[in-house]
Amino acid sequence: MADGVSGVDVSKPSIARVYDYLLGGKDNYAVDRAIGDRFINDMPGSVAIAYSNRQALVRAVRDIAVQTGIRQFIDMGSGLPTADNVHQVAQRHAHDSRVVYVDSDPIVLAHGRALLVENDRTTVIKADVREPEVIRHHPDTTALIDFDRPVAVILSAILHHLNDDEDPAAVVRYWRDQVPSKSCVFISHFRTGHNKETTEAERVLQATFGRGRWRSDEEIRDLFAGLEIQDPGVVPAASWRPDTVKDVPRIGSGADGTGSTGGADRE
Ligand code: SAM
Repeated sequence: MADGVSGVDVSKPSIARVYDYLLGGKDNYAVDRAIGDRFINDMPGSVAIAYSNRQALVRAVRDIAVQTGIRQFIDMGSGLPTADNVHQVAQRHAHDSRVVYVDSDPIVLAHGRALLVENDRTTVIKADVREPEVIRHHPDTTALIDFDRPVAVILSAILHHLNDDEDPAAVVRYWRDQVPSKSCVFISHFRTGHNKETTEAERVLQATFGRGRWRSDEEIRDLFAGLEIQDPGVVPAASWRPDTVKDVPRIGSGADGTGSTGGADRE
């Protein structure tokens, strides 16, 4: 069953739309809200973790734009447009920043294009992160990204949607080898607590989507493919370079439950 947006099946939940629901968005359907409500009701902290992840991403993009001088971003598994999108954060700090959004869900393409209609430094492509070569050589990517200059590769809340047999580290290795020195990679990832909450969360996601892995800090570190991990290393998302207490929104307990974030320079 499809709705008015091309290719969108509203009879099955989608990761992008469930996440949108957890973040308080409107681009979701009953089938997505049913799964979202299971997380909200049975796994307290889910909403806080989603916000915490998003806020860490915003801080990362800001730091990359302000501290590294990087002006090119590829945001893999970018999700539906939300309050503060990567291009808005990057261009707020460096107006000439260019951003390629990548997502496999057709709803992201539809809503992304609507948002970006007047932004010629930003594009959105429908592609699978497991096929990095398709993304790398996509004409919209090569039109915006100069691979002779540093690139920020953003892998926020996407690699945990790749099962072990899909080799998420190979995705990072591919991009590491495509970008020049002074580039960086940002990863956030579900982080297992080896407890019944994270075990149950993994079970629900696998049962619903056939994917979803809560990995240990060690496993997440390994995803960086030998890149030098920057301070503060792999830590809960809320603890990753938090702003001053005044700036940190109050998002309740559990915010540091399963988010884990790190950044790495190419060199
Ligand atoms: N990156 C955003 C963030 O951190 O807020 C959104 C993360 S959302 C949890 C995961 C996104 O990854 C969804 O939009 C989903 O459609 C997308 N996704 C899942 N598997 C994918 C794949 N194999 N290739 C591309 N996108 C994928």
